[in-house]
Amino acid sequence: VPTDLFGLTFAEFAAQARARLPSGAGLASDLYRRTFRVGRFEPEAFPFAATTRAAWTQCFVATLLTVVRVVEEETDAGLTAKAVLATADGYEIECVRIPMGNGGDHTLCLSSQVGCRMGCTFCETGRMGLLRHLTAAEIVAQVMTVRATLGWQPRNLVFMGMGEALDNVDQMVQALRVLMDQRALHYSQERLTVCTSGHAEGLAHLAAQGWKRLNLSISLNAADDAGRSALMPVNRRTPLADLQRILAAYPQRRNFTLGVNWCLLPGINDRPEDAARIADFCRPLGRVLINLIPYNPGSAPIARAPSAAEVDGFVAALRGQGLAVRRRLTKGRSIMAACGQLGDIAQRARRRLRGRGDDATSDVASSGQA
Ligand code: SF4
Repeated sequence: VPTDLFGLTFAEFAAQARARLPSGAGLASDLYRRTFRVGRFEPEAFPFAATTRAAWTQCFVATLLTVVRVVEEETDAGLTAKAVLATADGYEIECVRIPMGNGGDHTLCLSSQVGCRMGCTFCETGRMGLLRHLTAAEIVAQVMTVRATLGWQPRNLVFMGMGEALDNVDQMVQALRVLMDQRALHYSQERLTVCTSGHAEGLAHLAAQGWKRLNLSISLNAADDAGRSALMPVNRRTPLADLQRILAAYPQRRNFTLGVNWCLLPGINDRPEDAARIADFCRPLGRVLINLIPYNPGSAPIARAPSAAEVDGFVAALRGQGLAVRRRLTKGRSIMAACGQLGDIAQRARRRLRGRGDDATSDVASSGQA
């Protein structure tokens, strides 16, 4: 079975090439670089003998995902777009292009799993359950596909799409290694952000990589155990005191700023005492930036979207507690591409029906997605 090059660092690719293709390994560096430049594995572009070319093709592939559809929303903030991409075995995942507001630069929000098992009640993906983990090659392939097929050139990458990235930590870490490889896409750690709901084992594994310039953000959403456990079941396994201790011990560079994401849910987590509790939670964590995200109702809302006045009021309450706050503009809500809206809850049923050989397409045409 050919190995997918998108899941290999150059050193790993070269080692495999040396072992499997002694006569052609001298061009491994050029082949690797070209694959990431054009988005295809093309030994035919090199002066190999036909047998050597065939041997390369038997050993390696580079598999782009299939673009199923792209939905776009143009606002003053720029173009937000959601790409629905299909894996080779037919699962659909989503990644989102988010404008950064300066000259067309954008961030790409990546998926790490098909669905998610963390079960956060405000999140569309959480309602899907976990269908499967993505491989490192599939995670990298999201970036390669939007570059090669859609012409996007994402400046930053964030793991805030479908899935809990640290629940698939081995593959996610391998994908980061490839994305950072200077012969591949050469993303610096500062341009990469891992977001987690508070997966303790995954945080330990990530900390062990020693990547101090990598950005980290935590999805908090409630700063008391009862409230957080109700919104985010992960809190039952790792309550706030344990999470706070883990984050305080996380290796930080001197100017490291931990992102703390707070999805503002009117009537649930927008009281003045919530702002005070956030401040208490953050106090031992060094520099913190609160990312305030107005709730984006999905197909089964647990609250309404907050009004601008409610968001302003909570920003003021947080600042009154001495916290640095970034108010996230709502981008992509109309195309179900905003935070908490990714996912296709009908996908599990669709695959189950397919497995039985039924034609599922008409039954599940309305998934709640754009
Ligand atoms: S918010 Fe993140 S961790 Fe929670 S269910 Fe959604 S995708 Fe999973």
